[in-house]
Amino acid sequence: MTKFAFHDGAIVPIADAHVSVTCTTFHYGIGCFAGIRAFWNEEREQLYIFRAGEHYKRLLNSAKFLMSDIGHSNAELIGITTDLLRKESWRQNVYIRPIIYKDDGVFRVQLHDSTDKIAIYSQPVGHYIKKEGALSVGFSSWRRVDDNAIPARGKISGTYINSALAKTEAVMNGFDEALVLTQDGHVSEASAANLFMVRDGVLITPPITDNVLEGITRKSIIQFGREDLGLEVVERSIDRSELYLADEAFFCGTGVGVAAIGKIDHRLVGDGNAGPIAQSLLNHYQKVVTGKVEKYMDWLTPVYS
Ligand code: PMP
Repeated sequence: MTKFAFHDGAIVPIADAHVSVTCTTFHYGIGCFAGIRAFWNEEREQLYIFRAGEHYKRLLNSAKFLMSDIGHSNAELIGITTDLLRKESWRQNVYIRPIIYKDDGVFRVQLHDSTDKIAIYSQPVGHYIKKEGALSVGFSSWRRVDDNAIPARGKISGTYINSALAKTEAVMNGFDEALVLTQDGHVSEASAANLFMVRDGVLITPPITDNVLEGITRKSIIQFGREDLGLEVVERSIDRSELYLADEAFFCGTGVGVAAIGKIDHRLVGDGNAGPIAQSLLNHYQKVVTGKVEKYMDWLTPVYS
């Protein structure tokens, strides 16, 4: 159970970390957030925060879209997060949620002249999608929010209405997760994860300009593919029909990790199980996040010294 939060500039008991009903973000979704994970390494009795610097960079970039200035540097935010996790004394995998919000009352549908705040808390985390084996996914009738409506590359609170519409439609239609197209009909991503496919041994993912969130797992997978698995990795637009023909497809993200897709719109992907490249990337990812790959130790922030 979560005991503490960083709120109004201090680590306080979670029960004291309140926002008012007049909070602007509560009404309009004018906020931005991060979703970071820390992984427990039992042998070393160490908790490693995965790519904290990258997550806070994206958060501060998202804040820039919203003209939110919280007066904390990336390094300070990492320090606060480490203090918070240490105070919780977590000895398990946890999810960390920083959120930047505006707190000016409800009659301020604007970005400028705002009172900007940040809160951070953490909680134990299990599986994001409760399913053994490869996922069955379906294309959503909803389109991904377009960058010239709401910045799609950032993690903006209000954007998640779009994600929730797609996710609920997919689950209520019997799928595990949604695939969402861009306004011009190219494959963008899932409701809260990025997408890769494999065709003829090449690892392919939609470019950020197809209204994709600048995913940190995506960036990591691209590097693993190129440097560690020796694969050709291409960022290019993907047609819906091309995805049906993929040899492999998988999602990646802080929540899902690396999750193989076995069926798309009721058509088998490969033999319907995790393919060899998805499986290798999943194994590698799991080693990296738990501090078992020397090359990537500088991606991890140890919580306990
Ligand atoms: N796309 C969306 C819309 C997301 O919410 C997430 C989760 N943050 C991702 C992709 C994956 O990004 P990351 O690897 O940074 O968690």
